[in-house]
Order: sequence, then structure tokens, then C-alpha cells
Amino acid sequence: MFESVSAAPPDAILGLTDAYKADPNPEKINLGVGVYQDEQGRTPVLGTVRAAAARLAADLASKSYLPITGSADYAEAVQKLMFGDQDEIPRSRRAVTAHTPGGTGALRVTADFIRQNFADATVWMSQPTWANHPAVFAAAGVPTKTYPYFDKASNGLNFEEMIAALKKIPEGDVVLLHGCCHNPTGIDPTAEQWAEIAKTLRTVGALPLIDFAYQGFGEGVKEDTAGLQAFCRPGEELIVCSSFSKNFGLYRERVGAATFVAADQDSMLRVASQVKRAIRSNYSNPPSHGAELVVTILQDAKLRKQWEGEVAEMRDRINGMRTLLVEKLAEHGAPGDFEFIKRQKGMFSFSGLTPDQVERLKNDYAIYIVGSGRINVAGITPSNVDRLAKSMADVLK
Ligand code: PLP
Repeated sequence: MFESVSAAPPDAILGLTDAYKADPNPEKINLGVGVYQDEQGRTPVLGTVRAAAARLAADLASKSYLPITGSADYAEAVQKLMFGDQDEIPRSRRAVTAHTPGGTGALRVTADFIRQNFADATVWMSQPTWANHPAVFAAAGVPTKTYPYFDKASNGLNFEEMIAALKKIPEGDVVLLHGCCHNPTGIDPTAEQWAEIAKTLRTVGALPLIDFAYQGFGEGVKEDTAGLQAFCRPGEELIVCSSFSKNFGLYRERVGAATFVAADQDSMLRVASQVKRAIRSNYSNPPSHGAELVVTILQDAKLRKQWEGEVAEMRDRINGMRTLLVEKLAEHGAPGDFEFIKRQKGMFSFSGLTPDQVERLKNDYAIYIVGSGRINVAGITPSNVDRLAKSMADVLK
């Protein structure tokens, strides 16, 4: 039967990593996949993760199954981290949090839940969005549509058109938003804009779904919850898909969470039963190690503080590289104003490079960038920024 199977296209971003690995050029630069790298180009294990892993290794309790939604400690820690001092939701016990394999797992559980419980719902996503968003919902059989987001002229948010589109969304549909550090554009709404987005969804009766994969990479661990807070009103519903791949550097441990906030506890219990059903027929129950690391860090005041410092260090390094890249582009005479790169938040910069220019950078300069022109700023280091800026200036001229 396998004879009849045709080859699937390679994943655009992961395929780029393969091409980078195969390139013999010693000066090659990989700015594709969204993984943090330090100044030496390494993706380090955080000190807090090492400390937590040592504690866990010394006290291995059991490797029996976890509950379908993971451990209660993890759910509590995740809710505390994202709701912070605004604790009406955890206090009123109207949210269920399921530990999922990564943020992707959270999105897939959410997609299955939507398909199984709101058969007619469409999920609306920003144009552009993370390439895997439409794929995950399509795999679950959920229809998707887009709303305007990026304004090419200003390299900013096309807020007017975005709001106009959101106002036309039918009641009962779902609107996917990036909680902070929008991937791929790096452009986030302001506090006032978040308030207006939340008000609009409330008015049309659409369910907000927040993808929260970069908490701490924008302004700060607490500050980055500002968008999410706009949707946290008593009695209002919300879904949050969290990922701890980036902010804990736990990429391969697959640590994420799907949190369903219902209007009240009664409704939450029914939702929880459906979330469990979706998980049971997918991966049955989650892996434990990564979540135990997160809980160990977040429950220990000293480790928690140290972790916030580590997140700040990653954030500051990325922002430092933004500034340096803009300086170097000017130095090498790149045509245009690149100040917008400094305003973008998170790991990515939507550089404005065209697919042709991206192709030339790959073929002629061994610089690997996603076709959309999205640059992983965390892949820039003090030792490759000059060559990068010069090469970008060359293809832009
Ligand atoms: N959502 C967005 C916007 C992302 O960029 C990513 C990862 O790149 C994810 C979700 C999923 O992350 P994870 O690796 O935890 O599945």
C-alpha cells in the first residue's frame, strides 16, 4: 500500500534547518527556526532548569501515569503565571488547565475541542500568522479564515482594518490572537488596542483564543500578560494555549498548557470533561518531566526570581541585537529606514525582505531566512551581525 503514498512537502521552517546543516560554508548563519541562541550561537539549558532537574533526579517519586490533564500543581502554577495578581479566575475555579505536549499540543487539543463541541465554528487568524496555525486547525477539521493584521507601508499594525474585520465576525466563531510577541511580525497591539479588540469580540459574541508562546520575551513576564488581562472579566469565556518551550528553554521536553476559562465553575466542569475526552483519544495523558521542572522553578521563590532574570537576559540580548543590526544596516548603506526593527517585540523581526532577496541570501551568502522575510533575531550574534548586515544591504540595493 505504501507504493501509492506520495511525498509530502517538507516543513518550510524545519526544512530550512536541514539545508543549513548541509551547507559547508563555515560562515553560514541560521535565522530560520525560532529557537533562542546565546552569543556563542548555543541554545543553553537554563541554570534554573539544571537546578530543578538535579532536585527531581534526587527525588524520583513515580513514573506511573499522570491524570489526563496532568498534575494539579502544574495547572495551578500555570494559572498563577498567566493571571498573576488578577486572580479572580483561579479563585472562582472557573478555569481548567490541561498540561499538553508543548504549545502545539495545546492548539491541537483546542482544535479537537472546537471541532467536537462547536461544529459550525470557524477560527479566525491574523494575516500573517505562525505557519503551523492553519495546519493544526485544518488537521482537526476546523475551518479557518484570516483577518488583516500587518501594514506593509508602516511596518506596523493595520489596526483599523483589523477591527473592521473583527466587527464582522459571526457570533460563535473563534478568534486566535497572539498574547505577545506576534509571530512572525513582532508587532503587538497597545494596551488601548487590546481593550478595543476585547470589547469588539465581546460585542460580536466571538470566543477569544490566545496563543501565549513567548511570555517574558516582550516587555517582561508580568508585563506580557497585559493583552491577556483585557479578556479576563468576571463571567467571560476565553481559551489560552501556553508554551514553555522558549521562556524555559524546554523545547524538546514538550511543555505547554491549554486553559479553558468558563463563565462559572459548573460550566467549567462540563468543558473539562470534553477536554479530557479530546486528550484521551489523542495522546491519553501528558509526559511529566518538563512540567515538573516548570513547577519546581515556579514554586520556589529563589528559583522563580532567578528564572525571571534568565528570561530578562534572553530578552535583553535579543533587543541588543535589534539595535546593533539597525546600526550595522545604516553603516553598510542599506536603503530605507530600519528603525521599525527596534520597535518589534520578541524573537522575530519581519524584515521586509522579499522572497527573491531571501533566496539570494541563501544561495550567495549562506544566510538562511524564512521565505516570508521573518528573521529569528536570536540567531544574530556580535560575531555574525556585521556579515549579516552587509549581505542584507547588498541584496537590498
Ligand atoms: N505558537 C507560536 C506562535 C509559536 O511560535 C510556537 C513555536 O514556535 C508555538 C505556538 C508552539 O510551540 P511549542 O514548541 O511549545 O509547540
